Amino acid sequence: MSVIIAMDDLELPCPNCKGEKHAFVNNKKEPCSKCDGKGVILTALGQTLLHFFKKHS
Ligand SMILES: [Zn+2]
Repeated sequence: MSVIIAMDDLELPCPNCKGEKHAFVNNKKEPCSKCDGKGVILTALGQTLLHFFKKHS
């Protein structure tokens, strides 16, 4: 059995900035606070994997 994980399973385009990494706050362009300017947010699976790697690194 093999497990194939696609990037889409781990992260999704940020719904707040739609992957643009910036959001407009009071007409000012600022790094998106929802995704910390990454443009993507972790899915539940992504968070699980992140915890796993942190635990074992
Ligand atoms: Zn964002």
